[in-house]
Amino acid sequence: MGKLDNKIVLITGSSRGLGRAIAVKLASEGARIAINYNKDRRSAEELREKLKGSEIFQADVSSHNSVKAMVNEIHRKMGTIDILVNNAGILSTFSWDDFDDEKVKKIFDINLMGAIYTTKECIEDLRKQHGIIINMASNAGVGTAAKNTTFYSITKAGIVMLTKRLAFDLMDDHVRVNAIAPGWIESDMTIGNKSEDEIGKLRESFRARTELNMTGKPENIGDAALFLASSESEYMNGQVLVIDGGRIDNLTHSL
Ligand code: NAP
Repeated sequence: MGKLDNKIVLITGSSRGLGRAIAVKLASEGARIAINYNKDRRSAEELREKLKGSEIFQADVSSHNSVKAMVNEIHRKMGTIDILVNNAGILSTFSWDDFDDEKVKKIFDINLMGAIYTTKECIEDLRKQHGIIINMASNAGVGTAAKNTTFYSITKAGIVMLTKRLAFDLMDDHVRVNAIAPGWIESDMTIGNKSEDEIGKLRESFRARTELNMTGKPENIGDAALFLASSESEYMNGQVLVIDGGRIDNLTHSL
């Protein structure tokens, strides 16, 4: 018997990276995953082939209508959602001197409004099921923001407050809400489109900034998500799990 047998789990942005690792881990404990992707249908399809009982759903989380349509389709194809993982996100790094309205709006719409729209559309299911929400924050949102990540960090700090507030707002409905704040984890977000040489330098730089002298893998976040998605975390609510190797950092580093 798995820890999540037959639970229906929507994971936004699970075609790649951390979302994919969470999907693999939760499915290994019997969950049926609603794999959300925006553009990368091929990766989503590959994952569906691997995970028994999973389905794929295209939606741009920055569009409320798109999220509504996705949740309706999940109801038709899979049923009521038990667990929501608000994971979809983008990184864009720029300084105040390169301020650009479109770039700022885009990162807020995807990282913060995406989690808000998806929560809004799943809230009735979660109330009914006494469900669980896991939000993907970042160590950038809890005090160690790197140089040029001002706007990204603000969205992640928003995710932290969304987590705390939702935990309170939904407590009478027995919905638990917690967040994960990863440090530097290798994924397309952090090493995509970089040369081997650049990747090596990044690894070295981030390794040296941790007490554990290591960098993180998406599987580390999958393990944390399983803990939060299962009854093993039954006495935890409104909290942020920081998974960053024990980051020793300062505000002058850039990504
Ligand atoms: P990634 O490898 O770039 O993957 C991003 C995922 O989000 C993809 O599945 C992508 O879907 C999806 N996505 C992007 N925009 C979307 C949209 N508008 N609608 C729906 N899905 C969308 O990134 P990652 O490293 O796995 O990051 C996942 C989450 O962890 C993000 O919230 C990120 O901020 C957070 N995080 C990551 C790190 C790290 O070091 N990697 C550290 C702290 C926090 P498509 O492939 O279909 O475009």
